[in-house]
Amino acid sequence: MNTDFRVASLPVASIAELDRLGDEIAELSAHLDAATAHLLDLIRDFDARGGWGNGFRSCAAWLTWRIGLDPGAARERVRVARALGTLPRLAQALARGELSYAKVRALSRVATPETEERLLGVGRAGTAEHVERIVRAWRRVDRNAEAAEAAMLHKSRALHVYQDEDGMMVVRGRLDREAGAVLIQALAAARERLYRQTGNVSAETFPADVSMEPPTMAQQQADALGLIAETALHHGMDPGSPGERYQVVVHVDAAVLEDPDASGQSALEPGAHVSAETSRRLGCDASRVVMRHDPDGRVVEVGALTRTIPAALRRVLHYRDRGCRFPGCGLPFGQGHHIQHWANGGPTTLSNLALLCRRHHRAVHEEGYQVERLPDGELRFRRPDGKLLPDAPSPATVPADPIHALRMQHDAQELHIHARTAMPNWLGERLNVGYAIDVLHPLAAG
Ligand SMILES: [Zn+2]
Ligand SMILES: [Zn+2]
Repeated sequence: MNTDFRVASLPVASIAELDRLGDEIAELSAHLDAATAHLLDLIRDFDARGGWGNGFRSCAAWLTWRIGLDPGAARERVRVARALGTLPRLAQALARGELSYAKVRALSRVATPETEERLLGVGRAGTAEHVERIVRAWRRVDRNAEAAEAAMLHKSRALHVYQDEDGMMVVRGRLDREAGAVLIQALAAARERLYRQTGNVSAETFPADVSMEPPTMAQQQADALGLIAETALHHGMDPGSPGERYQVVVHVDAAVLEDPDASGQSALEPGAHVSAETSRRLGCDASRVVMRHDPDGRVVEVGALTRTIPAALRRVLHYRDRGCRFPGCGLPFGQGHHIQHWANGGPTTLSNLALLCRRHHRAVHEEGYQVERLPDGELRFRRPDGKLLPDAPSPATVPADPIHALRMQHDAQELHIHARTAMPNWLGERLNVGYAIDVLHPLAAG
């Protein structure tokens, strides 16, 4: 109302000028939306091809780092980009500047290939606020249907274990998704442990297997389940506290211990079938037992179990680093990484430690990423190819008149965007959300 009043009191020339200004805003916005569609295409391609996998947790984390989106907005871009991959009509409306990014973003939360057409109609007819309200109501219907379905599925969980006539035990069940995922992982881990050297399955390893044939997948699964059960009972089903899961044994020659400056002389016991680099990673932040050997190699002393990073120092480390220090990561928790490994004489001091999340701790040990601390205390990361991985990348180069360039580009694509391209058909009537959902949603009761 206020605006109308003010406009009305302006001289006619100014009204025309403001109209032009408004048209220009609308036209440029449509151009930006069309460009956003192209951007989302690129993001979808980059995401699908794993372009972010060189040190980043996710495509969103990469976007945050590279183009400076806040993490929430970055996740949303990736979500919309992925969704539009199966929603060609909405994607096209955005690419033509006919539907704003805000509307497409909202509609893509609920649209499926089956409902896309109807929801596109909602986007064309209503304002962004109408669209938002319809989508919210739509999700309520979806959620209710989903919750009812999930409850029914959960009810159907079951595990039957019974003896067959021939004495074998039969196991048959339905697990919900989470429990199932854990079981699959545990089976894979146990299989890995039992059949690590595939093709090298000797009769000695499986004395009961008279056939000498390598066991089938189903047979391996059966053995793996047995191992899981045994392991669970053996460990009193106690998962243990996170920091104490890994223990490393360090062998040192007595002479070396007397000369603390001698580095590289201690040896990590090769962990159970993990690579040297992996055992060094696990050893970075673990519990440690030191065994001293005399010159003949006999163990003369076994030290007490200690943490490689004492609790007090770890607290300070968390306080200082506040999370993973890998560029662009920022996960608020992590493991203490020795920049120079303690097995090579690296000290357990704040300046030789950096907090890294599990993903990035692996990156520096096993994937060839390098980290060093500069004299000024800053950390410097390099990719496996030696290229610097800056905390924040330098901004992309932009043409001198980016808006002109954008318009030229759209003209070249014969995309004719004007001030009314994204205008809704809404004529001002009141929006009846309940009625709209009844008419539009395939699951709505009405
Ligand atoms: Zn480490
Ligand atoms: Zn990280």
